[in-house]
Amino acid sequence: MKEYDLIIAGGCASGLAAAIQAKREYPGIKIALLEKLPRVGKKLLSTGNGRCNFTNLSITPQDYYGNSFVTAVLGEYPPENIIDFFKSLGLESYSDSAGRVYPRSNTAASLLDSLRLEVDESDTDVFTDCEVKIVYHSDKGFIVNDEFKSAKLIISTGGKSSPAQGSDGSGYKLAEMLGHSITGLFPSLVPLTCGSAAVKSMKGIRANNAYLTVTDGKSSLSSQGEVLFTENGVSGIAAMELASFTEKAKVNGKNPVLTIDFLPDYSREKLHEYITLSVEKYPERAVDYLLTGVLPKPISAALLKDAGIYSGNCKFSDVDSSAAEKILNSVKSYSILLTGTKGYNFSQVTCGGVDTREVNESTMESRLVDGLYFCGEILDVDGRCGGYNLHWAFASGLTAGELK
Ligand SMILES: Cc1cc2nc3c(=O)[nH]c(=O)nc-3n(C[C@H](O)[C@H](O)[C@H](O)COP(=O)(O)OP(=O)(O)OC[C@H]3O[C@@H](n4cnc5c(N)ncnc54)[C@H](O)[C@@H]3O)c2cc1C
Repeated sequence: MKEYDLIIAGGCASGLAAAIQAKREYPGIKIALLEKLPRVGKKLLSTGNGRCNFTNLSITPQDYYGNSFVTAVLGEYPPENIIDFFKSLGLESYSDSAGRVYPRSNTAASLLDSLRLEVDESDTDVFTDCEVKIVYHSDKGFIVNDEFKSAKLIISTGGKSSPAQGSDGSGYKLAEMLGHSITGLFPSLVPLTCGSAAVKSMKGIRANNAYLTVTDGKSSLSSQGEVLFTENGVSGIAAMELASFTEKAKVNGKNPVLTIDFLPDYSREKLHEYITLSVEKYPERAVDYLLTGVLPKPISAALLKDAGIYSGNCKFSDVDSSAAEKILNSVKSYSILLTGTKGYNFSQVTCGGVDTREVNESTMESRLVDGLYFCGEILDVDGRCGGYNLHWAFASGLTAGELK
């Protein structure tokens, strides 16, 4: 039996941060980091399209859909502390106009190296190709895989999104073995799907500032930003942020409907006025140009087509009040019946996880088992797109690594 003071199950964002923190807090501590894949941190390499958007200059619990469990950790580790943590590892960073923070080198590999090198240099025993399958707890501590023994255990095995990168949901079983409950799990931050006919006329269209609302008939969730129409669904950040709501609605037997407002800064009245004035002023113009003063041409063409206004010989003067109404509906409330999402293989984060009522929000220690800690995505915490999920992974990892 290999004996340690601390075992960390899962060696990616939160697990690596926890290992570094524990060594800094308790320099003599004996740590084993157990990672299922042949190398640590694989998922980090594909984050932020290979650039790793690791935090955001502005973070509140609202970025985690109002989950108040994150409040204490965000208070202890606001964005500047995470930026400073990486600075302490030798990694410089910069932020873009939306507050998203990236490594100065613009490569996720630099961020992973900064974590990995510190762990390697700090006399932590890293076991790769080592999947944690069985965990027991007794008065004497934790026994892992009948091979490792420790007084304390941190579980940082992630969720079940992007299983090719290691997080296949096996960590939930470990939590259950130790008596914890897992809340309902749903893929989040993943493209939405619909019957292909519903988006046929929109395929390939990208809008940068649309306002999206998904409703299940009773409640709704909205987001604003980029949307991209694909062969059989809707992608882009604003659409992906509505994924877990959509999945929950489907599981509950509802039919989620997505409504898109392509001109959120124009009221219906203002757009109606714009169309009426254009028709009056330029009656002879080809109808293709009716909306190009307010929307990019590919979007305006697709929306006119959706409204049943075909180009050909049509002029502005052919747009009567009923046609104008149809155009208004297409632009301001383009509706699509959703069939679900593209699922865990394509999702960036898992909604649901270890029930946070069973975990101390200030320390990440289990309220059920002394010496057991959780951090990162395995917990029932998920955030929006924009650096919030990695921020949570690092902030909760640093908290768990304090072993308080
Ligand atoms: C394509 C993609 C892009 C993303 N981009 C961003 C982004 O730019 N910004 C952002 O904030 N978030 C992003 N995310 C989300 C973010 O990567 C995750 O929320 C974050 O990595 C979670 O960290 P974690 O340590 O909890 O889990 P993970 O990073 O999933 O790590 C879990 C680790 O545990 C290992 N493991 C799992 N089970 C076991 C086991 N039984 N035994 C041993 N080891 C095990 C896994 O192999 C893995 O290495 C992205 C996700 C994806 C998939």
